[in-house]
Amino acid sequence: LKFSEIYGCKSTIISLEFFPPKSPEQLQTTYSLIQELSLFNPDYMTVTYGAGGGTRILTRELVGFIHNNLHVQAVSHLTCIGHSKDEIDQILDKLKQDGISNIMALRGDAPRGGTFTKHPDGFSCARDLVKHIAKRGDFSIAVAGYPEGHQEAKSIEDDILYLKEKVDAGAEVVVTQLFFKASMYFDFIERTNAAGINVAIVPGIMPIGNISQLNRFTTMCGASIPKALAQSLKKFENDAVALTKFGIDYAIELCRELLSGGAPGIHLYTLNKSTQIKPILRELIGKTRLKKEAS
Ligand SMILES: Cc1cc2nc3c(=O)[nH]c(=O)nc-3n(C[C@H](O)[C@H](O)[C@H](O)COP(=O)(O)OP(=O)(O)OC[C@H]3O[C@@H](n4cnc5c(N)ncnc54)[C@H](O)[C@@H]3O)c2cc1C
Repeated sequence: LKFSEIYGCKSTIISLEFFPPKSPEQLQTTYSLIQELSLFNPDYMTVTYGAGGGTRILTRELVGFIHNNLHVQAVSHLTCIGHSKDEIDQILDKLKQDGISNIMALRGDAPRGGTFTKHPDGFSCARDLVKHIAKRGDFSIAVAGYPEGHQEAKSIEDDILYLKEKVDAGAEVVVTQLFFKASMYFDFIERTNAAGINVAIVPGIMPIGNISQLNRFTTMCGASIPKALAQSLKKFENDAVALTKFGIDYAIELCRELLSGGAPGIHLYTLNKSTQIKPILRELIGKTRLKKEAS
């Protein structure tokens, strides 16, 4: 199914994002995790694409596993970093051979916080990657969107005009960067509607499970932690169990607010863990959709 068909045919589309493990030895653990979460019947599962090195090969492995072994719709992320156009075409050819037809097209970030540099024969931004993939005609494409604006954008207005260019280039869905307040999503929807963007915009939600990790991620991607949330989190600095529970409840409440306000679905950043994702999925997915083993 193309993204436009997935989001066109029913409401509350649930997607799960995984990342490839650092080494092939850890693949089995990742397979088990993905299999465990597939029992919740998500609509699709995505696998991120690393900035370089060995994990890029594992993205293809995992996406193939999701598609062929679990028979769940699989989406491969793909970034411009370090690739020429020819290499991108070779990757797309291999994905096509594997039966994968959905791509999350991204620019990517330089490894270890460096600045992005274009490959001499490659693409300088996600829009150009989208254009290239769309020209082939054999993939359906998702892109990233930033409710608080991307860190390098001159302004949120500029970022949204550019997002429109990504959609006009062929993206069928936008998945957002993580955020922690429903109003941020609804403000973003108002702005994207006003800019004439009319594809599904799916909120990306990351459950909070660890405060230092939360601080690291938000610093890295420029997402803000609302004051009230930061205040609540103080109570859990020395109580990991209570924080896990708080993170689940916070994510469920946020998802409920988003869905009841019209969000077409939820994209969960699983961080390759199931402890918090499972109870969230139980709340989000009607019990009928659960396979027996997951209930
Ligand atoms: C859902 C999601 C999934 C992700 N998956 C991955 C992954 O698998 N691997 C990975 O490495 N990273 C991933 N990222 C992170 C992403 O690569 C970074 O956020 C990166 O900094 C930007 O990628 P992009 O595709 O949004 O870039 P782009 O859309 O190219 O935008 C990058 C910046 O350039 C600006 N810009 C570019 N061209 C123009 C123009 N012509 N006019 C105006 N402004 C312009 C944009 O406003 C923005 O500030 C993901 C992010 C999200 C939200």
